[in-house]
Amino acid sequence: MAPPQLCKSKVAEILLGYIADRDPALTQYIVPDESSAAELVDERLRPMFEDSPRLSRLLTGSPKDLTAKKFQLRTMRVMLVWAGSTARLAAKAAKYQFRDEIDKYPVSPSKKETSTEKLLDKRQRTFRWDRKTYRASSPTTATGPIAMAVSVASAVFDFWVRCPICGHMQRMYLTAPDGRPCLRWPDDERDPNRIEDGSLAWYECERCQGHWDDAKRDRAVARGEWREERTGLPLFSHLRQHKPRRIAFRLSALLSMFVSLSEYAAAFLKAKGDKLLLRDFCNGYEGTPWQDYEVERAEKDILALRDDRPRGLVPGGGRTACLIGMVDTQEDHFIYTVRALGWGSSLPSWLVREGRVETFEGVAQVLWDDVYRDVDGVEYPVRLSVIDSQGNRTADVYEFCRQHRGKIFPLKGEQRMTRPHDFTRIDHFPNSEKKIPGGIKLLRVDTTVFKNQLSAKLSILPTDPGAFLLHAEATEEYARQMCAEYFDEEDSVWLCPKHRANHYWDCEVYGLACADLLGVRHWKRPEDKKPASAPASAPRPQPHSSGRVGLPSAIARRRG
Ligand SMILES: [Zn+2]
Repeated sequence: MAPPQLCKSKVAEILLGYIADRDPALTQYIVPDESSAAELVDERLRPMFEDSPRLSRLLTGSPKDLTAKKFQLRTMRVMLVWAGSTARLAAKAAKYQFRDEIDKYPVSPSKKETSTEKLLDKRQRTFRWDRKTYRASSPTTATGPIAMAVSVASAVFDFWVRCPICGHMQRMYLTAPDGRPCLRWPDDERDPNRIEDGSLAWYECERCQGHWDDAKRDRAVARGEWREERTGLPLFSHLRQHKPRRIAFRLSALLSMFVSLSEYAAAFLKAKGDKLLLRDFCNGYEGTPWQDYEVERAEKDILALRDDRPRGLVPGGGRTACLIGMVDTQEDHFIYTVRALGWGSSLPSWLVREGRVETFEGVAQVLWDDVYRDVDGVEYPVRLSVIDSQGNRTADVYEFCRQHRGKIFPLKGEQRMTRPHDFTRIDHFPNSEKKIPGGIKLLRVDTTVFKNQLSAKLSILPTDPGAFLLHAEATEEYARQMCAEYFDEEDSVWLCPKHRANHYWDCEVYGLACADLLGVRHWKRPEDKKPASAPASAPRPQPHSSGRVGLPSAIARRRG
């Protein structure tokens, strides 16, 4: 899956030359339409076979053997097929198939007629054990053929490049997953044409922050390698160790020596704010499928949930049952929220504090060293905390949770579970399946359940029971992130569009899981309780300075 002009067809042609020379066998080459077939033969295949001393020996010498309908070699015949010609598709079986630009194949006219891809699959059944299929295309939508093929691949490779200045290996992004801009241009320059004409864009190394111009970018790519998405292993190590049956490769035009960094930046700036152009940018430059989505909620509706408390102040007057803390882990920082949960089955709640810290010490300070009080000075400790343990920092997160055992749990979000949440023990004795008693547990959370719940909560008006409220200083950035994800009806999953940060949303999703885990809905208010039957799980707000009146400083540091 890659944008146009990134050698997808060239790879197919080289593979075809290899097959003709080394393993002649029935081969089909499928293109979107008849004119592409003629072009393929005249402009690509014939010159390649004629120009190569080795391949030219395979030509029959008869010009009528090299036409769009028939590409006959001494050793084998290449059947050129265009996707519209279903009769030709049904004709023969093939061991090798090249399916070029599959997202451009015409869609079957009716539901009754099988899709081109299904029809092609049938042609390969005879060669069940040794068939090979090469699919290539620029992406279209998330449900288009190439994006679907990538999604079912057992190994997905991205191209990593090596910084020509510091040697650091990295993936290239327009904007990194943590929101850091990677492709840069002068801050005061907004005109795409001036950026493109003046070659004003540069790429910034994620480690040394060194600037790459186009030449340095090309050097970074030349010294790069394919790495698998999940294992991080280089191509051939991964293939040896895991022997995947379906492998996928993804490329962006950021890596292409034919596309300057400034052209890429200009294309992005021109597309900004225009849905159609943005779609072209995703498909044609970034090499990603376009996800069309409905906006679930507006940022202004989120900001309408602000009340009049300053940041850091816990709702007073006996409204708060307990505080919880949620942390989303990024490559080099953390995003957190601290939320107050209220009494009652409608589960009202209030954002107390949110933000970003750089270190684990910062996380510890926010959760346990800083003191949270209500307007009467009553102190509330953070009762339960969770921290996202997925990504590249799992071991560090586990270690942090071990140091603060009992106060914080590592959390792993999953899309589908049989229960909303579940604990798994993760501490084993070395080289053994045996669990260490008292070792830390991983909290697995069905994010679909709690994302649905959060989405519903956000639509409760601020004055109604169970509202999901914010403090007065909650930012537009917070609101933006709370609007990032949308629900895909077709697959019943929550999705986050590319380039959208959703860290606060994730934190708040974890928060609802925490509330559920604590069973706060079922807690009895202190005044409702009979002294003898106080449940052990009831919270104990600690009076701090009884009788003190006035607004305490919102966040205080605990001493000693
Ligand atoms: Zn560098």
